[in-house]
Amino acid sequence: MIKIIEKRCPKNHLCPIVKMCPKDAIRQEGYEAPTIDQSKCIKCNICIKNCPHNVFEKED
Ligand code: SF4
Repeated sequence: MIKIIEKRCPKNHLCPIVKMCPKDAIRQEGYEAPTIDQSKCIKCNICIKNCPHNVFEKED
């Protein structure tokens, strides 16, 4: 699964990765760190490759 490393997220902007997810699996409340709906995620790694803060990480 893809996990969120919350402490790496600056939590001060709209997460640009939300719109990049092809499965609409990422949600963000306000400027909080994003969350992933694991039931929708297909592990395409787009979020991992594009977040400049490395908030998304692959976990077995
Ligand atoms: S790995 Fe792909 S499908 Fe899963 S949350 Fe990231 S962008 Fe969305």
